[in-house]
Amino acid sequence: MKVAVFSCKPYDKRTLLAASDEHQEIELFFFESRLSLETISLAENFDAISCFVNDDLSRQVIDRLASYNVKAIALRCAGYNNVDLCCAKAHKIPVFHVPDYSPTSVAEHAVALIMTLNRKTHRAYHRVKEGNFALEGLLGFNLEGKTVGCIGTGRIGAAFCRIMIGFGCNVLCYDIEENRHVVSLGAEYTDLETLYSRSDIISLHCPLNASTHHLINKHSLSQMKPGVMIINTSRGALVNAQEAIDGLYRGQIGYLGLDVYEQEGDMFFEDMSDNIIYDSVFQLLLTFPNVVVTGHQGYFTDIALHHIADTTLENLKQMLSEGGEYKRELTFKN
Ligand code: NAD
Repeated sequence: MKVAVFSCKPYDKRTLLAASDEHQEIELFFFESRLSLETISLAENFDAISCFVNDDLSRQVIDRLASYNVKAIALRCAGYNNVDLCCAKAHKIPVFHVPDYSPTSVAEHAVALIMTLNRKTHRAYHRVKEGNFALEGLLGFNLEGKTVGCIGTGRIGAAFCRIMIGFGCNVLCYDIEENRHVVSLGAEYTDLETLYSRSDIISLHCPLNASTHHLINKHSLSQMKPGVMIINTSRGALVNAQEAIDGLYRGQIGYLGLDVYEQEGDMFFEDMSDNIIYDSVFQLLLTFPNVVVTGHQGYFTDIALHHIADTTLENLKQMLSEGGEYKRELTFKN
């Protein structure tokens, strides 16, 4: 089976090649390019493709993949908001993902953002390097006893709740489906309005879909405690960035930690240090002392990379066996 691997960085290539030792029947070809209508011709003559979070798997792209007789799409991520599953189903192209490569890695990154924003280690690091040991401006707060709101309590949200309960926080949760494990840890489910009004910190762990798009907007912000901390390690479009900036100016948001950004596709995972970034909203976000942005690195730990590589190859290998139900295949729900 010949597989075109898109958005492939050297670290992806290393872990995929190491994992492929056990899957000799799969031949991998690596492309740094993101999959898009401009790069789609690279997929011609391949049996399957493998993609990441910012690859374009819209209807037009999938139609072209079908015309090339590509037989499977193996995502190297958990989220699949970038895939037109309806179109893939119509072409009978199975789409696989890696649902649980390491929920802890993303949960721990959300906590890293909380700790950085609270104790201002991003600012302290630069001060100390310049011989400035003054503490004015670095005052933090104790997490113990604070109320943390977790929106989305699946794999990552549950891991996040476990850590925050360990800190001694009161954890309020909202999800369209309750997770009994989270309740057994000591968290409490509530409605969104209560979560907004009582939380000191709100962390997003739900998928991006029509019901969660711009969940954080001027309306939801107006229901929150003044000075609330918002953390988004899920998908950028959960937050309306312009309205978050307005919230930062008004002090409604006291701290903002983002690992994802709605328009991240043209920037993240690339070295843009010699380029002009033509996104004034993003540039403005970077000017706030109480905003920390990381470039979609929540998943980026050693264990997670290995699990992603192993599971991606296992997902593809299923295509070589006759019939049957596939594991980790995403199904389109009307
Ligand atoms: P999951 O499917 O295990 O959990 C998602 C939870 O969100 C589920 O419990 C679901 O019921 C809930 N949900 C769905 N719609 C909701 C809504 N409208 N309101 C509230 N909750 C809702 O997924 P997961 O593995 O925990 O991942 C969560 C998200 O994290 C992914 O969708 C992805 O976008 C993101 N992610 C980010 C990174 C990163 O590197 N930053 C890595 C992996 C995943």
